[in-house]
Amino acid sequence: MTIPADHPRYQSLIVRERLAGSVRDGIVSLEGLVAHGRGEAFDYLIGERTTDSALLAERTAAAMIRSARHPVISVNGNTAALAAREIALLQQASGAIVEINLFHRTEERIRKISQLLESNGVTVLSGKAERIVPLSHDRALSYPEGTGKADVILVPLEDGDRCEALLKMGKAVIAIDLNPLSRTARMASLTIVDEVTRALPMITGFLMTLQEQDIVLLSRTPDNNYFLTEAMKEMDRRLAHALD
Ligand code: ATP
Ligand code: MG
Repeated sequence: MTIPADHPRYQSLIVRERLAGSVRDGIVSLEGLVAHGRGEAFDYLIGERTTDSALLAERTAAAMIRSARHPVISVNGNTAALAAREIALLQQASGAIVEINLFHRTEERIRKISQLLESNGVTVLSGKAERIVPLSHDRALSYPEGTGKADVILVPLEDGDRCEALLKMGKAVIAIDLNPLSRTARMASLTIVDEVTRALPMITGFLMTLQEQDIVLLSRTPDNNYFLTEAMKEMDRRLAHALD
């Protein structure tokens, strides 16, 4: 069966193909491919589209980034492979610092991911990484001028351990995670339950249109529990009618 190009499923298949190619190129790890599969399952449950509550979370994320003193976007292999161009546009709109952070960190992977991001227009923070985040593995390695100074940090596709460590450092963490039950989603200051390639352009759009009074109002105290509950309700509603 051929899937029409405007069907959400078609978009998911393109994303999947791009990711598989990036494994072959040494940008995405095999573990990253598995994590993507889990994301796909949850995307299926929310209907492979941006829900109203996710849209409000994206608006809130834009407000938090706009009101930050030192916003940082922390990029891993999956995010770079899926959304290098979207990161570049978000960086342009926000002035945020983009830093690479990898679980399976090798100098070669860092170089390849930097090249991919830079060829899409991202300015990548370079320098000597230090063990800034209190973690025993290589995800501790960050940059003093990036994560070190960040007050608000956007972490698309974050792991629970690192999310917790960043919060302990006193940072506001914005996560993009399709799984509202993950440790990251439950701990983050704000979780956007949406697919990363849909979420990033929405945040960029809101950064360009938000009014000053909205920024103050939205960024004050994001209610993460509300966003997670709404995502669960949406999944519940869809499951209840799945076989209609
Ligand atoms: P946690 O460590 O937070 O409990 P986890 O161990 O289940 O989560 P990780 O591999 O650490 O999962 O993090 C990846 C997360 O990103 C997963 O929860 C997955 O649902 C989500 N995810 C994967 N691909 C995408 C995507 N393209 N867009 C949004 N979310 C995604
Ligand atoms: Mg994890």
